[in-house]
Amino acid sequence: MTAALECEALTVAFSAAVVLDRVDLVVAPGEVVAVLGPSGSGKTTLLSTVAGFVAPRAGRVLLAGRLASSPRRSLPPESRDVAMVFQHYALWPHLSAVDTVAYPLRRRGQAAPEARRRALQLLDRMGIAELAGRRPAEMSGGQQQRVGLARALARSPSLYLFDEPTAHLDTALRGVLQDEMTDRRRADGSTALYATHDAAEALAVADRVALLRGGRLAQVGAPAEVYEQPADLWAAHLTGPASVLAVEAEGVTGGRVALTVSGERLRVVGGRAPGGGGDVVLVRPEWAALGGNLPAEVEQVRYRGPHTDYRLATPAGSVDVRHPGMPAARAGDRVGWTLHRVWVARRATGSPGG
Ligand code: ADP
Ligand code: MG
Repeated sequence: MTAALECEALTVAFSAAVVLDRVDLVVAPGEVVAVLGPSGSGKTTLLSTVAGFVAPRAGRVLLAGRLASSPRRSLPPESRDVAMVFQHYALWPHLSAVDTVAYPLRRRGQAAPEARRRALQLLDRMGIAELAGRRPAEMSGGQQQRVGLARALARSPSLYLFDEPTAHLDTALRGVLQDEMTDRRRADGSTALYATHDAAEALAVADRVALLRGGRLAQVGAPAEVYEQPADLWAAHLTGPASVLAVEAEGVTGGRVALTVSGERLRVVGGRAPGGGGDVVLVRPEWAALGGNLPAEVEQVRYRGPHTDYRLATPAGSVDVRHPGMPAARAGDRVGWTLHRVWVARRATGSPGG
């Protein structure tokens, strides 16, 4: 099957500064790939290059198998079957919400009443049907962002480019957007590249997550893969909370890691990132638990609603533990703890992202 999007050794530079460095990324039709990276890592630049707003210095962009961008040749944005939802809602100041959303439908030849009906439906889906007559200046930031989303959804492109689209949305509406994308993928195989700096969001929306570090892809994999098997310490911290145990992995065989923690020899579920070199033993908060033989003192307790986060001071270092439900211990308590999974990652990669 022809890929929906292929970035081949894509390199983008602004004067001397290389902002994307030989990015290789293939997105299959119907796939949602999250681009997860900290601020300044190049997410917006990557999406803008795919959209055709920025030309590459080297490499190529192919859309549905056809060359869209190279240093010598670039299709204009309006000739690409993509819709970008910007981080900062770019709405026309003189158009009402309903006219804004109806515009792409009218351009595709829909009659005015039909386009208006569909636009109202999309505004309703975004929870702002009652604001249909308002212009951007009469709406809050979050409301404008919803209009921007509805406009992109109205275009029904082959490829959506979402640039941190939920920065101004509450949790419920994030869910609505995710449901809408799921429905569309089922109906017409919509594909998306979804930029975010929020690990939980990336893991929730995507089929695969691409970790972007200083303009280079550091790791690409399924959500569970980048979360449970981060390549290095940087990838581990980007994808969620992780503690580093001050112990060494003594051996990794048969999906188990042997290690000695506080004098106790353990063999727990886990593995090791390929490549090796300066390994560190990582623990996600739900891979450890209160109750067990290992000694600790509770340093901090944070009640989060569905679960409680504990920080334990242990002879093997500070360990964060997450438990469902209400706090079961207080700061200063001496407790036992246990470990049922670890991951041995590289301390650092040779070069940023390499
Ligand atoms: P992100 O979206 O991940 O925060 P960006 O793609 O916006 O990252 O920016 C990546 C890097 O490129 C940053 O260092 C930023 O300052 C730089 N940059 C982005 N756009 C331009 C531009 N038009 N001219 C010069 N530098 C830019
Ligand atoms: Mg950005």
